[in-house]
Amino acid sequence: MIKNIAVFCGSSRGADPEYSSQAKKLGQKLAQRNITLVFGGSKVGLMEDLSDSSIRAGGKVIGVMPRLLYDKGIGHEGLSEMIVVETMHERKLRMNELCDGIIALPGGFGTLDECFEMITLAQLGIHNKPIALLNVRGFYDPLVQMLQHMVTHGFLKPAHRDMLIISPCLDEILQKMENHIELS
Ligand code: AMP
Repeated sequence: MIKNIAVFCGSSRGADPEYSSQAKKLGQKLAQRNITLVFGGSKVGLMEDLSDSSIRAGGKVIGVMPRLLYDKGIGHEGLSEMIVVETMHERKLRMNELCDGIIALPGGFGTLDECFEMITLAQLGIHNKPIALLNVRGFYDPLVQMLQHMVTHGFLKPAHRDMLIISPCLDEILQKMENHIELS
């Protein structure tokens, strides 16, 4: 069973209120299922919506922040635990160590960086954790096209592309992640 999920998501709220709404739903759902949320630790953007909703629903929430960002005073003060690390690299390492699976909500460079590092490690067989993209209102459709483009052009194996769980439905994502963990 999944016990800890790392969620990568925007430090902004994005242009569609549905992004925020889905971030809140995810936070609440993790708490209801007794799954610890591991996230970037900030009280900004979707990260704030996600973590606030999980805390409100009684969930355990762990933030992992590099000192550079923490010292700016944007760390969430209401978390179960805040881990301050020295570098961005160390943060990704800690988040990876703390989770059994990864979900990415819509976001920008930071979200993609974190998510693709986890996919690259999975592709190399360094870990076997499920990685999912919550495709809110088709936000990740252009990325799905890009992945197909990479397959077509011989840079990505279909089997590696298919490692990613991509769905607009949170329940489907959580079910597929559970199945993945049971099979591995
Ligand atoms: P972005 O998608 O570029 O907004 O970056 C968001 C992702 O990168 C989050 O999952 C965080 O882990 C990290 N990140 C970027 N900006 C911040 C910030 N101000 N505070 C905390 N984490 C951040």
